[in-house]
Amino acid sequence: MLTENLLRNKKVIRRIIRAIQSLGLKKKINIMEVCGTHTYTFFRFGLKKLLPDNINLISGPGCPVCITEDSFIDKALFLCKDKQNIIATFGDLIKVKGTVSSLEEAHAYGANISVIYSPSEVLELAKINPQKRIIFLAVGFETTAPLTASILKEAQKNELNNLFVLSAHRVIPPALNLLCEDSEIKVDGFLCPGHVSVIIGEVPYREIVKKYNIPCVICGFEPLDMVLSIYKICSQISEGKYKLENEYNRVVKPGGNISAMKLINEVFDIKDAAWRGFGVIKKSGLFINERYKNFDAEKLIDKPLAHGKIKNINCRCVDVVKGKISPSECPQFKKRCTVDNPLGPCMVSFEGTCRIYYEYGA
Ligand code: SF4
Repeated sequence: MLTENLLRNKKVIRRIIRAIQSLGLKKKINIMEVCGTHTYTFFRFGLKKLLPDNINLISGPGCPVCITEDSFIDKALFLCKDKQNIIATFGDLIKVKGTVSSLEEAHAYGANISVIYSPSEVLELAKINPQKRIIFLAVGFETTAPLTASILKEAQKNELNNLFVLSAHRVIPPALNLLCEDSEIKVDGFLCPGHVSVIIGEVPYREIVKKYNIPCVICGFEPLDMVLSIYKICSQISEGKYKLENEYNRVVKPGGNISAMKLINEVFDIKDAAWRGFGVIKKSGLFINERYKNFDAEKLIDKPLAHGKIKNINCRCVDVVKGKISPSECPQFKKRCTVDNPLGPCMVSFEGTCRIYYEYGA
C-alpha cells in the first residue's frame, strides 16, 4: 500500500531523479503531461527545479475548460437569454469568455445561472423548478462523461422533461494522435492522464504506441508518480524500445472501467468535434444520441448563431493548449492577464496551464 508519506517522500524522489540523471541522456527530451493536474503537481511540488535541465515538460490539452471553444459559450449565452432557462454550470466555466462576453457578465445582467458543485445537483434543480428548463453545460473528458450519462438516464427514468444537457464532452486519444502527427510540436513521450485512464484503460494508448512508436506512461498525480513515470519514459528512450507502461496501476486497470464506458456508449455518439487550438478532431466529441435526444439542449437553439469577433486577439491559449508555447511566452501573461482578470480560459480554470504557472510557476 503506497501511503502519502511514500508518494511524497523527498529521499525516494531524489533517488529516482538521480536514476534519471544516470541514464546520461544528453538531448532535450520533450515530455507532454496531458493532464492539468499533472502540471499542478509538477509546479506545486517544485519538481521542475529537481529534474535535469534537458527534461522539458510541456503541458497538453488536458484541461476541459481550456479546450472548450468560444462557440460553446456563445450557445450558452444564447440559451440564457430565455428567462425560462436556468443554466447550470461549474464555477470556472462562467468566467470564460465566448466571442463576445461571459456567463458571469450575463449573470450580472440578470440571466439565470446556477453554479453547481456536482453534476447530480442538476436533477434536484429540475425537480424543484418544474416551470423552468434546466440546461446543464457538460464539459470534460471520459472522466466526467459517465456522470452526465447517468444523469440523463435518471432524468429519463423519472420523466424529468425540463432537464437538458449541452454537451462539450471530448475524448482524449484522438487529440494525442493529432499531437503525434504535428510536425511543429516534437513530443518524445506522453504522461497519460490518470483520471481518464481509469475509465478507458490501457488499450487506446497501446494503439498510439504501435502507430507512432512513442513512449506512453499512464501516470498518477503524486510527485513520486510523476518522477517515476518520467524515469520510465527516459529509460525507454535510452533503450530505444517504446511501449505503454502503467505506473498508476494501483488505480488504473488494463481494461478500464467497463460500466462507465457502457454508460458513455449508451447515451452518446462519437462524432467529429472542435477543440480550441486544434480545430476539428475526427471522432473526438461525445454528442447526445437519438435515444436521449429529448434532453439535448442543442435542439433549443433554433437558428444558426452569429458569433461575434473575438476580442482577445492577443490571448495565446490556442498555442498553450497544444503545448506550442509556455504561458510565460504569452505577452499578456502576468501583465494584462492575471487570475483576477483572466483574458483566456487557460488562466480561468484550476487545471489551466496559465493559471498553474501564475500561481506556482515562481
Ligand atoms: Fe491567454 Fe492569459 Fe494564458 Fe496569455 S496568459 S494565453 S492571455 S490565458
